[in-house]
Amino acid sequence: NRAILYDAMGNQRVTFKDVAGLDEAKEEVAEIVEFLKNPKKFTRLGGKLPKGVLLVGPPGTGKTLLAKAVAGEAGVPFFSISGSDFVEMFVGVGAARVRDLFRQAKEKAPCIIFIDEIDAIGRSRGRGIMMGANDERENTLNQLLVEMDGFNTDKGVIIMAATNRPDVLDPALLRPGRFDRQILIDKPDRRERLEIFKVHTRDLILADDVDLEVLAGQTPGFAGAEIANVCNEAALLAARKGKEAVEMEDFEQAIDRVIAGLEKKNKIISPEE
Ligand code: ATP
Repeated sequence: NRAILYDAMGNQRVTFKDVAGLDEAKEEVAEIVEFLKNPKKFTRLGGKLPKGVLLVGPPGTGKTLLAKAVAGEAGVPFFSISGSDFVEMFVGVGAARVRDLFRQAKEKAPCIIFIDEIDAIGRSRGRGIMMGANDERENTLNQLLVEMDGFNTDKGVIIMAATNRPDVLDPALLRPGRFDRQILIDKPDRRERLEIFKVHTRDLILADDVDLEVLAGQTPGFAGAEIANVCNEAALLAARKGKEAVEMEDFEQAIDRVIAGLEKKNKIISPEE
């Protein structure tokens, strides 16, 4: 089983400090953190918490990071699974995995279940591509719906899922009692890019000429993942040149590389679209 348990004491712990920008999204999930810390406090008057929260936004914008941070802030285990794991699976395996995941999560509650790329299992049913593969995906999706319906949030299990294609999701997933809350995770604006640069240069040795504001201005359209990449590339470039600190020119070179990489990817991807 590939579900990963992020121990509250382990290295993998992520907190809101690691998530730059996304202030509104953090505010929205703060309630879930409170709930996971103390489930009974919320439900004592008979109210019900959301079971599922859908994080919607382009790749690399911090959806996984935010979900991990919710678990980290609350100090609860994080179980994760990716929709793309279920593609090309043998009959019955996908559904069994989902069942197993929920069983483990219920044992370890309160906790978070995170489903990345939920669109890979959660596409509208009956849009058949190839029959066989599609049937199995439907089985997996049906199992997910059964599991979501089959527990109460008072157990303290919250399901977070991420997608950049909310338009293809099966409407059944979005019904009340399932993923009835959506949080938009957009690409960062200039101010947020600055915050992301700050987070990802925390552990670097920077030369005096490095101006993060300028770098934020030079990276329109970059997602957090690309900025993290730039910072790491810059540090490697500087080290290779034998420098004692990472300089502005290293960052600028790294930005050029990342842009070149993105352009190449677009060239490969766009003819199919
Ligand atoms: P995908 O949809 O491709 O899975 P995602 O939205 O889940 O992408 P993450 O996996 O959370 O993106 O982000 C990848 C990495 O990019 C993070 O581990 C982190 O290093 C960096 N990153 C992304 N967004 C942010 C952010 N808002 N603040 C700090 N770092 C970020």
